[in-house]
Amino acid sequence: MAASWEPEVGALLEEARRTFHKEFGSAPTLAVSAPGRVNLIGEHTDYNDGLVLPMALELVTVMVGIPRLDGLISLVTTSEYADEPRQVEFPVPTAEQPLEPGMPRWANYVKGVIQHYPAGPLPGFSAVVASSVPLGGGLSSSASLEVATYTFLQQLCPDSGAAATRAQVCQRAEHSFAGVPCGIMDQLISLFGQKGHALLIDCRSLETRPVPLSDPGVAVLITNSNVRHSLGSSEYPIRRRQCELAAKALGKKSLREVDMKDLEAGKELLTKEEHRRARHVVGEIQRTSEAAAALSASNYKAFGRLMVESHNSLRDDYEVSCPELDQLVTLALSVPGVYGSRMTGGGFGGCTVTLLEADAATRAMQHIQEQYKGTATFYLSKAADGAKVQPL
Ligand code: ADP
Ligand code: MG
Repeated sequence: MAASWEPEVGALLEEARRTFHKEFGSAPTLAVSAPGRVNLIGEHTDYNDGLVLPMALELVTVMVGIPRLDGLISLVTTSEYADEPRQVEFPVPTAEQPLEPGMPRWANYVKGVIQHYPAGPLPGFSAVVASSVPLGGGLSSSASLEVATYTFLQQLCPDSGAAATRAQVCQRAEHSFAGVPCGIMDQLISLFGQKGHALLIDCRSLETRPVPLSDPGVAVLITNSNVRHSLGSSEYPIRRRQCELAAKALGKKSLREVDMKDLEAGKELLTKEEHRRARHVVGEIQRTSEAAAALSASNYKAFGRLMVESHNSLRDDYEVSCPELDQLVTLALSVPGVYGSRMTGGGFGGCTVTLLEADAATRAMQHIQEQYKGTATFYLSKAADGAKVQPL
């Protein structure tokens, strides 16, 4: 069965170390890792101050390196992506000479975190990045790269910021250096994930609550559709804007402050489309709260039903699914032992997430692979820890 399991973090560190030696002629003294994530439920709610329920994956980005004294930062990635150079060098930013986004694009995620890092002065450094998170696959390789960078910088120059500030710095890096107006979920889960737990995140207060997810009889299967429709990047800001307009029309700060009763009462204040968008967000926040309670009670059937409702709402009201994701969900749901399945991430391609009996995983992968009109890639990951320093 063509399933991908995560390479050991140890193997990834070894790859990074080998590359470091080749590029810089010495051994790295610092190493950190930060995971990718999958969101179990709570989609397109984070930028509406809502609830999300992601878990950190065993797929990680590692960064290894050493400080240097010449005021330069030299970065290398082992990932091949979009024909961009894999190496880049630039001076440590100063007040007079701040960093700016540029080429190669991949380095902007790193540069943004360096520029916004809340402590200093930072020394120069050389570092190699290696990742088992698929790039651009919807499992947030971008946040894992930002959080790995942040965690690396903490080793060079400790920060004194509050925990949530760390996530906000990484988010700001993605906004201002990568040009992606993302919410805060990906950075929070990559920082604060806990092994054996999903994390209920309140994106209004930035409070987090671990929800146990370590039952050996239950598995989380991620299926990559391996499609990414270009519509995604243009539609995302449109959805954000529609949500803001809907909240404003209803006289609220965000859709978090709105319940279904408010929404129906204020229906005529919204366009039909705004109403459908808002109905998704308001319903999804409610579903996420119910899903966290279901998971705490090991009620996987109830959790699965909520996943399916979430998918349908994303498809019909929020209109961010696509035929490939719909097909993957339908195929998963036809397999005995599957509790629920839905698209996960921004939409228009990327991955689905399926909750199922552990024994059903092979059967589900086989069925999906046979029937899916594209080529699917699978990841079976347990809920893992957030960012950490790694021994070398
Ligand atoms: P996702 O976060 O779902 O993987 P994004 O498009 O948000 O997709 O982020 C992917 C981008 O992040 C890549 O195009 C690349 O620029 C950058 N990136 C992530 N991880 C790495 C890495 N290990 N090396 C180089 N670039 C990376
Ligand atoms: Mg991303």
